[in-house]
Amino acid sequence: MNHDNVQPQESTVSFYKKSIHKVDGAIVSMGRDHSNRFIMVLSAKETGIIAEFSGEQIGDTGIYARKCPLNHHNAEILRKYFPWTAPVSVRNRVTTIGCGDRLGFATLGHIAAAREYALTPVLAQQTIRELQQTGRTFNDVVDDVSFHVFEAGFKAGFGANADHLKSMNDIDTAAAAGITMFTIDLVEKMDQDAVNWDIATLDQNYAQLDAAERTRLETKYLGREFAVGDKVFKCEPEMLKRCAMIYGKGLDFAAAAYDRLKQRCSYDFDFEVAVDEASFSTLPCHHLFIAHELKERQVEMTSFGPRFIGDFQKGIDYIGDVAEFERQFTEHVAIAKMFGYKVSIHSGSDKFALYPAIGRISDGHLHIKTSGTSWLEAIRVIAFHDPVLYRVIHKAAQEGYPEMSKVYHTTADISNIRNVDELYDDQLPKLLDLPEARQMLHITFGVILNNKFIRPLFFAALHKYEHEYIENLKNRFEKHIQLLGISSKLSPQ
Ligand SMILES: [Zn+2]
Repeated sequence: MNHDNVQPQESTVSFYKKSIHKVDGAIVSMGRDHSNRFIMVLSAKETGIIAEFSGEQIGDTGIYARKCPLNHHNAEILRKYFPWTAPVSVRNRVTTIGCGDRLGFATLGHIAAAREYALTPVLAQQTIRELQQTGRTFNDVVDDVSFHVFEAGFKAGFGANADHLKSMNDIDTAAAAGITMFTIDLVEKMDQDAVNWDIATLDQNYAQLDAAERTRLETKYLGREFAVGDKVFKCEPEMLKRCAMIYGKGLDFAAAAYDRLKQRCSYDFDFEVAVDEASFSTLPCHHLFIAHELKERQVEMTSFGPRFIGDFQKGIDYIGDVAEFERQFTEHVAIAKMFGYKVSIHSGSDKFALYPAIGRISDGHLHIKTSGTSWLEAIRVIAFHDPVLYRVIHKAAQEGYPEMSKVYHTTADISNIRNVDELYDDQLPKLLDLPEARQMLHITFGVILNNKFIRPLFFAALHKYEHEYIENLKNRFEKHIQLLGISSKLSPQ
C-alpha cells in the first residue's frame, strides 16, 4: 500500500494470459497496472471493435491501441463480442453454487475453484440489502463479473442471481441489468403471526377468505394423501388453514412476480422462491403446500429456499440437531425432486457439519449460497499483511456491531473477542477462525466499506494482494465443494 511518493513512476503493466483473445481482427485482453485493471484493444484498423470500446487511444503508428476503463459501456461491448462473459440460466445444471462477490474482487477465486469441479457457479449474487450497503447496483455486480470471467477466460457458463427481491421495483431493476436468476422473498408478504394463532383465531381469519378460494383449497387438499418418496403426507384441516393463512398472500406475490418477469425478460431465467428469513422453520408439509400452490398458479420454480430447522447464522457452522436436519432435508429434497426443481440452501457458507449429508441426500442436485466466506477471506488477507489497517477495520466493526445485529441474525457475544491492541500482529489472522469475530466482521461489511478512511485503503490492499486473496478463496471454496462430495473434472475448463 505504501507506494513511492517521491517521483511518479511509469506503471508496470501486465496482462492476464487467459484473457488474450482475437476477434474482428483485433486483440482484446485484460491488463493491470499498479492501481487498476483495464481492457486493452489492439487493432490494425481504426474501425470495428476498437471504435466500439470507449477509452484512451495510445499511439497510431500502424497499430491502434486503446486502453479502456472497466465501465458499464465497455462491459456491454465485451458481452456483445464474447457472449460467454454474459450470465445464463442455470436451470439445467445439476449443482449450482451461489458465490457472491460484494467487493468485485472475489470472482477469480470462485472461478479458480469452480473450473475444476462438476458444478456451475452463480458468480454474481447480491441482495438488495447488500447493494444498499456497498453502494453498488445490479449493473455494477454483473459488469464486475463479466470483466473477471473475461480475465479468467472462463467459458463454461455462469449465473447471476438477484437475491431476496421483495418488490416489483426491485424485480424490474434486476431484470434491466440482465440478471438471469431471481430470488423472490415472500417473508414480508406472508402472515408470519398465523403460525402462532390459536384455533379460534385461525378459524376466524380463515372464514374471512373468499368462499370460492376456501372451496378450492378444501377440495384440493382435505382428506387427501400425498405420497412423496417414502413418505405419505395427510392434510389435516388445521394444517391446511394455517398454511393458507401464513403463505397465501406470499404465494400471490410470487405468482405476480413470475408473470412480471415473463413480460420483462426476453431470455431464459431461473425463478427461485425463498422463505429462509421467516421467523419459524419451513416444515416439509409447508413446503409441499407451497409447491402445490405455485404449480396451481402456473409458476415454474427452479429452486426453493426453505428456512431449515436449527440455526443458519452467517459465516459460522450449523447450530442445531444434525439428525433432525437430515430427516427434514430428505423430505425437502424429495418434494423438490417430485416437482422438478432444486432445494436452495441460503446462508450456506461454512455449514461444514451438514455438508456431507447435504451432498449425499441431494445427490449433488442442489443450489447452495456461500457469499459470506469470500468477504471474510478478504479480511484475512488484510489481517495477515497489514496489521495496522486490520486493527482499524476491527474497531469499526466492533462499533457498528450493535446496530447491524438488529439487521442480521446472530447470537455472537463479541465481548469474548480479545482487545486487538493487546494481540501480537501474527495473532490477528487467527481471529478469522474465531466464531464471534467471524460473525462480527461478517455482518458489519457495510459499516467497513462505507467508512471513508477505510474504503480506499481496503481496496488498495486487495488490489495489491489480489493473487494471494484468489488463492485463499480457491482453497476455502474447495473445502466447501469437497465436503459436498462434488466430483472434480477430468479436464478443467
Ligand atoms: Zn437468504
